[in-house]
Amino acid sequence: MTLDPFGPADAFATSGCPVCHALPQIEAELVDRFCRHCFSDPDGRDRVLAVGGLCDRHWWLVVTAERARSDTMVGTAELLAEVLDRFGTHPAVARCPLCGDTEASARERFRVLLDNLGSARLEQAPPSWRPCLPHVEGLRQLRLEPWLARWVRERQDRVLVEATTAARRYVRTRQHRSQEEATGTESEELLAAMAVLLGDPDQVLAGGADMVTIAPDGRAGGWQPAGGWMERPMVTLAEAIDWARADPARRDAMLAIAQRAVALQPAAEVVIQLGLAGEQEPGWAGEARRIQDSYRMLGQELDALGAADHLRSELAGLLEEHLRLVVLVLTPQRARSDSTRVEQVPPGGLGPVAGRLVALRNLLRRTVPVDGRTVADLEVDDRL
Ligand SMILES: [Zn+2]
Ligand SMILES: [Zn+2]
Repeated sequence: MTLDPFGPADAFATSGCPVCHALPQIEAELVDRFCRHCFSDPDGRDRVLAVGGLCDRHWWLVVTAERARSDTMVGTAELLAEVLDRFGTHPAVARCPLCGDTEASARERFRVLLDNLGSARLEQAPPSWRPCLPHVEGLRQLRLEPWLARWVRERQDRVLVEATTAARRYVRTRQHRSQEEATGTESEELLAAMAVLLGDPDQVLAGGADMVTIAPDGRAGGWQPAGGWMERPMVTLAEAIDWARADPARRDAMLAIAQRAVALQPAAEVVIQLGLAGEQEPGWAGEARRIQDSYRMLGQELDALGAADHLRSELAGLLEEHLRLVVLVLTPQRARSDSTRVEQVPPGGLGPVAGRLVALRNLLRRTVPVDGRTVADLEVDDRL
């Protein structure tokens, strides 16, 4: 466990955010403990029933853990039946106990870690050790020693300055007149700064779509898009593997397109966020158009792959949705007087659509055989 108070030699071994890094394991521990105690413990059950059950993600994680532990689903089934009896439906769970416990446990472990390190050692932390802002800010809910409260404030200021600098620099070096300033590291720096500002992308996106996409039966679902274009269920992993086996070249081409689309996301998100914040620098519109063109080009490459099938339509829909949001953020510039406009970019920017694309890319990746076998759980293993 990365976040346990551990020996000083290991303290800064994690690059990126140590809390994001440890979250999958913390969550797995809590889900396992839930399966061991909560099904039979009246207090635990009451706590779940009081809020109307668990969130969708944790229902899936709990049933998966229970099956793995004891090859049965009796505990989950009883609890689920009780929730449905009591509420008549599966309500939207505002405060899932497992979400709350995971956050609280991570927060407390992070505080213990920082306390054990102490102020002097924290000052010598290597630059690669970068706790993300959401986890740093979470500490403010705890009672902190004055030195630690000060560390939190300094860290917040620094993260914001670094993210602003990286975003502005990226946009600037995409303008013609500043190209000599470019060193080629802007993209990496921007991605690193975004990870510190927003949290580790694997974590953030996993919470939204990825984990839900691969349910125990492989059936995707759980995320409801605003539009109608993704309401049909996505294919199962088994179906995707069959599909890839029938035409591996087509799968490779689609995977390449999906990967390039995922790689475009950070730049698209920056353009959208700067647009929403009204901070368009001179190069902003040019950069937005470059991104538009890239999405259009990917769409055309996808069209050129021949007849539509389910996965291709899914990818095409996602590319269109990314393109639509970039176009939308550009449009008010041209038509500011158009007061009838109702459609707006959601404040979350690419948000859920981005997660859905990453999930689709991951699904395609999982159909690629490794050493002759299709390894379905590569991504999950990597996180632990
Ligand atoms: Zn973090
Ligand atoms: Zn939850």
